[in-house]
Amino acid sequence: MNILVVGSGGREHALVESVLKSKRTQQVFVVPGNPGMSDKATCVQIDLDDHEHLVDWAKREEISLAIVGPEKPLMAGLVDRFQEAGIPAFGPTQEAALLEGSKTFAKKLMKKYGISTADYQVFTNVDEAKQYVCENGTPTVIKADGLADGKGVIVAMSEEEALTALDRLMADEQFGESGKTVVIEEFLTGEEVSVMALVNGENVVPLEPAQDHKRAYDHDKGPNTGGMGAYSPVPHLPNDLVSRVEQEVLRPMAKAMGQEGYSFTGVLYAGLMVSSAGDISVIEFNVRFGDPEAQVVLPRLQSDFVDVIEEVLAGREPVLEWSEDACLGVVVASEGYPGSYKKGVPLPRIFNTPERQWYFAGVKNLEGQLLSSGGRILLLSQRAASLLEAQEEVYKTLAQYEWSGMFYRNDIGKRAINNTSF
Ligand code: ATP
Repeated sequence: MNILVVGSGGREHALVESVLKSKRTQQVFVVPGNPGMSDKATCVQIDLDDHEHLVDWAKREEISLAIVGPEKPLMAGLVDRFQEAGIPAFGPTQEAALLEGSKTFAKKLMKKYGISTADYQVFTNVDEAKQYVCENGTPTVIKADGLADGKGVIVAMSEEEALTALDRLMADEQFGESGKTVVIEEFLTGEEVSVMALVNGENVVPLEPAQDHKRAYDHDKGPNTGGMGAYSPVPHLPNDLVSRVEQEVLRPMAKAMGQEGYSFTGVLYAGLMVSSAGDISVIEFNVRFGDPEAQVVLPRLQSDFVDVIEEVLAGREPVLEWSEDACLGVVVASEGYPGSYKKGVPLPRIFNTPERQWYFAGVKNLEGQLLSSGGRILLLSQRAASLLEAQEEVYKTLAQYEWSGMFYRNDIGKRAINNTSF
């Protein structure tokens, strides 16, 4: 089979590696990909907004499965275009992608179908939103309704912070249309965890859980980022976590989407808060693999990834086989990220082993030399018998190189390893 992966980050690099391991795969293409994965897959430069060109090209290359990584092309209806052209695609339609694209849509659905989530109110008027904050107090969470590159959520510890956030989103329109409607949400405490599932209609196949580290700096300090590192499994959370999330969150949501007329196909990602009492609440739904979660979950999958996707697309629920190994990944980012940062810094020459994999994201190629070109540059992931061993190996490897102009967190996996949740 010729397989297409859409996207250009570390998540797509991980998808390429998983697809390559399949006995079914003949050739892998990535649109647009990046030079850090071009030794594994053919990177094709087609504008992702140019659906017609992309679909024509996919027909010519006889693509028999397309996997769309990022949310933006999903929300722009790329899967719909592939389907119209008869190309099997694993991802939600534009309508179903609204589950990530509109927080009010997701919240309303959760409320209607009894899926546990933080209490909330929706506002389109800034004065009413401010009044609500003043009456209900802080901490509180302010969320832009639409996509905002992960920057549209403000956890406000003080009234001042909350009011400033509302001004930025609603009055100054910092994120344009995305922030004109806001969700103001109850502040939840506990341990965050992500559980992704492969979904087709009411069929749901959960993957192993992962924990991401959103803050830029050690000890969960600094601004929120796209994710600075992750690991899987998550041993300090209850053993029955995945089966409970499957029963309480993933299956009900897949069913709800169908009942509402938005039948869901693709990766359903539940970002969750687990309270100290063990209660599960949904923080957000995404409609694609998490980045960096994909880079630590997929390497643990022992079943043939392409077979699994095909089974799911055919309406079955395959039983997945997982490695007993743990996997831990640390992101190397440009200094200054998630704010402004320098680009064009040369990267060291690195190599993979069967247990160690470098996944590239924000990189470009200049005469055979890889240079940084984005905020998150790469992720180093390591499989090992335990999280502690994986963590030790990752940091030992990272310490062998000079990372001037770049930084990484030194504490990925620490809470799980020290068992210090809550
Ligand atoms: P992503 O980049 O993952 O798509 P997003 O912009 O959609 O993120 P959320 O995942 O909804 O935003 O929130 C970002 C972070 O804010 C969460 O990972 C969590 O740490 C925090 N957060 C969100 N909602 C709450 C809440 N109700 N209580 C406490 N913290 C929250």
